[in-house]
Amino acid sequence: MSKTFQNISGTFDILPDAFNADGTVIESSASWHFVEERIREVMAHYRYLEIRTPVFEPTELIARGVGELTDIVSKELFSFERGDTHYVLRPELTAPAIRAYLQHHLAQKGGVQKLFYMGPCFRAEKPQKGRYRQFHQFGVEVIGASDARADAETVAVMMQIYASFGLKDLVLKINSLGDEQTRPAFKNALQEYFEPLASELSDTSRRRLKTNPLRILDTKVEREQELVKGAPRLIDYIDDASREHYEAVKGHLSDLEISYTEDPFLVRGLDYYTRTAYELDSPHLGAQSTLAGGGRYDLLAQELGSSEAIPAVGFAAGLERLFLALAGEGVKLPDAVKTDVYIVAQGEAAEKWAFKTANEWRSSGLHVAFDLQGRSMKAQMRDANRHGASKVVIVGEDELTSGKAIVREMETGDQETVPLHDLLDRLRDVVR
Ligand code: ATP
Ligand code: MG
Repeated sequence: MSKTFQNISGTFDILPDAFNADGTVIESSASWHFVEERIREVMAHYRYLEIRTPVFEPTELIARGVGELTDIVSKELFSFERGDTHYVLRPELTAPAIRAYLQHHLAQKGGVQKLFYMGPCFRAEKPQKGRYRQFHQFGVEVIGASDARADAETVAVMMQIYASFGLKDLVLKINSLGDEQTRPAFKNALQEYFEPLASELSDTSRRRLKTNPLRILDTKVEREQELVKGAPRLIDYIDDASREHYEAVKGHLSDLEISYTEDPFLVRGLDYYTRTAYELDSPHLGAQSTLAGGGRYDLLAQELGSSEAIPAVGFAAGLERLFLALAGEGVKLPDAVKTDVYIVAQGEAAEKWAFKTANEWRSSGLHVAFDLQGRSMKAQMRDANRHGASKVVIVGEDELTSGKAIVREMETGDQETVPLHDLLDRLRDVVR
């Protein structure tokens, strides 16, 4: 027996029709298009313009300095090398977007750059529902604005995207992380709190206690979440300017009638995050409850080589988890575009005519299908049904000689005979 192949675990195919893969529905390519289009529309209204960056980047861009080893960097990267160069498949798009911003001197265009992105990301995770090795993110970056309205606007565009699909069960959580001056004191406080509890922590958290204690607050282990409840709170450590900024962001959200809950333990994993942090949750995602995460990262540009600080804020969201939320709330997604006209042809001359005519009608804007296998009339009619064609044009030798074809309305079954040269006009009403 010859060998067949399977996609890599943690990745999935997107097919013309939805299908079930390990208990999760992978929506049709038409549904993906619909969702992506809607996201693009909302982005356009908010005046975010698209940036597309390569799916692979130099490793140093993603894994900078050992001091700030993150989970993504330490174990989740797909990496490879050619010659002396090390590459990674991008695990996210914020660093690539800022890289592009710096590389192309977008700051020189003046003003604030508002970018959005959408595309595949790669992380070597343990695959499960809502967690893949190739998954798809969309998100925004507002670069060059420290104003609290920028933070609030990224939240607003995110909420508008989810609301535009009719999703209601959304929980927005926000917090402030303070800045780099107050961070060390908070980290110390965290270490002092957790060190006596170290024996009760998981290996991961014990490691984080030394490298990045903030991440312990983000634990998904229930027992640890209990311990977190007694931990020191960021809000008690942040500086006055950060506190003012936080109040301003909350005020702007209220002005936009966006409801939120404050979560004193919400953090973003990476050191370059400052001030605002937020997260959007849905109860429909199972263990992976987060739809999107965002925040301000005023320290990233310098980490990527910028000589000056460039304030920036944004969010990243997972498309697969959006689909889970849509399914969870019973949102119906549209089917693929239907076939307008199916040409049923019998005999060599009619097949030839169908082949040529289909091409003409297609360029006139109709969605036209016909049989490519020389099957019987009956089989062709069945195929027309499968296509959901709204009209079928039937031609055989007799019709061709008399210069006419039969047009059948599939919904009613009504048929009429139409001169060949009138057919296109007669059929066009399906697209009107
Ligand atoms: P999680 O805590 O669920 O691992 P994260 O904090 O690693 O998420 P981010 O790096 O903030 O996630 O990415 C933003 C969003 O991208 C997440 O909220 C989620 O919707 C999506 N996402 C992240 N990792 C995956 C993955 N492996 N598979 C599917 N979606 C993902
Ligand atoms: Mg993760």
